[in-house]
Amino acid sequence: MPPRGSRSKAASIAVSKSPPQSTSPQANKRKADDHPELKSPLRRSKRVKSTEIIGNSSLPGQSETNEENTSSWGQKSQSAKGTSKGKAYGDGVALPVNEEVEEETKLSIKKELDQGSTAKHEEVDEKTTVTTTVSKKRKTKKEKESEMVPLRARTQGLRMCVGAHVSAAKGVFNAINNSVHIGGNAFALFLKSQRKWDNPPLQDDHRDQFRRLCIEHKYDSAKHILPHGSYLVNLAQEDKAKAKQAYDSFLDDLRRCEALGITLYNFHPGSANQSNFSDALSRLAKALTNALAATSTVTPVLETMCGHGTTIGGKLTEFRDLLAMIPRDYHSRIGICIDTCHSFAAGYDLASPEGFKAFMKEFEEVIGLQHLRALHLNDSKAPRGSKRDLHANIGTGFLGLRAFHNVMNEPRFEGLPMVLETPIDRPVSVISKDSTQNGDDADSNSATNNNKKKQPKRPASAKEPTAADPSVWAREIELLESLIGMDPESPEFRTLEARLAEEGREMRGKQQEQYERKLETEGKKKTKSPGKKNQKTLMDVMKGAGRKSKAKKISAEDSEDEGCQSHTE
Ligand SMILES: [Zn+2]
Ligand SMILES: [Zn+2]
Repeated sequence: MPPRGSRSKAASIAVSKSPPQSTSPQANKRKADDHPELKSPLRRSKRVKSTEIIGNSSLPGQSETNEENTSSWGQKSQSAKGTSKGKAYGDGVALPVNEEVEEETKLSIKKELDQGSTAKHEEVDEKTTVTTTVSKKRKTKKEKESEMVPLRARTQGLRMCVGAHVSAAKGVFNAINNSVHIGGNAFALFLKSQRKWDNPPLQDDHRDQFRRLCIEHKYDSAKHILPHGSYLVNLAQEDKAKAKQAYDSFLDDLRRCEALGITLYNFHPGSANQSNFSDALSRLAKALTNALAATSTVTPVLETMCGHGTTIGGKLTEFRDLLAMIPRDYHSRIGICIDTCHSFAAGYDLASPEGFKAFMKEFEEVIGLQHLRALHLNDSKAPRGSKRDLHANIGTGFLGLRAFHNVMNEPRFEGLPMVLETPIDRPVSVISKDSTQNGDDADSNSATNNNKKKQPKRPASAKEPTAADPSVWAREIELLESLIGMDPESPEFRTLEARLAEEGREMRGKQQEQYERKLETEGKKKTKSPGKKNQKTLMDVMKGAGRKSKAKKISAEDSEDEGCQSHTE
């Protein structure tokens, strides 16, 4: 399998700067077994050979804990200073709290965002810059300085390249610093605004700066970077004018990739909407073939989807059918990205080790592992088979931590970019509480991300504003990396798993209830209209209504399912 071989080789090259050490999960596990002390997170953290940490980490979760309850990433940064308490991981990883509040407020922000294409971060940036400049000039300068301090150091020497979909506001090159900031060894970004069709061309200086920063921070743009395509693009589009618009935007993105030295490009396969499904597939195949002919180095990567409505990509067989319609010569340049939340929501059991194995086997047999080029790591707020695109924080959803243990210990994923698209919006008050409780200088902490600054005045009745808090990703990256080689039967894992599951318990209960109500409605509708064809009946039910004004209904429900849109720029 040539692509896999080349990936492994590249991965070894990428890690060659670290002292020789075994980095495969099995090897790590062996090491830990030989040396019981290596099982402790403190010891494991010694894998960190980073040279990039500049200062003290100041993550909110750290502040939520006291000395007896130190978080995992807190330990890592502390152990670098030789002050770790060496407590188990399970005690301290504090993932986003207050799910309910977060969910509600996110919806309100999303509505605002939907009205315009202004990126959320940009909006917040503008507001907060004004506020801070007026109130305290000195703080602005300090904040700017501390923005340069990464929340955590990147772990060197790992073949599992975990990162997140970071902001590229005000220029694609900013994504690199944003990824460094959270300690990501891979990242995703939008190459242009994903919510509008007209975008200025990529500026030469932005391109040059992107390439320069990639080299400076040792991101291999051919391996570690996975841009995400626009949500507007549907290459399976039936309408000719809209299809051309979609294709032009898609090709423009691929060309931006080539200009930036990026070889992977993730996008949603699209939707058949009201048209025949296999016709839609062949339109997608045609557009993809044309785009492959018009470019030379970039590999379009199709993302697995949750199978909602007539969306393409819920079933793995759909990718097989698509590949069959594309000339063989191009197959080496067609990738698939497994989105854990999407495939789980589509019905695949990725939660249990057996289910995960079966899924991988099916992937291998139906599509071929040579096409597997990337992963999106998201837990799922909605149950398996719900066909809802609702990303949850790692370990808090229906997938649970065990699913991510499977992923992080799968040798076939080595060297692939693994991108978090988990929610990071948190109530502003929680974020600022976290930073002030941290014990460090509040000024420097408050600036560790761009958005958690002073909140504007609001009426008492209004919902609490939220802001993006990238420290959530910093913690999740650390959490995921800690799973490599961890014994899933160990108390360490069990405690951690239970703790995260507890955090998401209420949210899961709500979603489970909602899903069951939906199934009930579905059952009733089925008995009411037995004359309709199966697929259509199911479709209607998933849309939650009859056949009238479908387009509107679909977009209304889609806007509820934020999915990959949990990041907005
Ligand atoms: Zn995704
Ligand atoms: Zn996506």
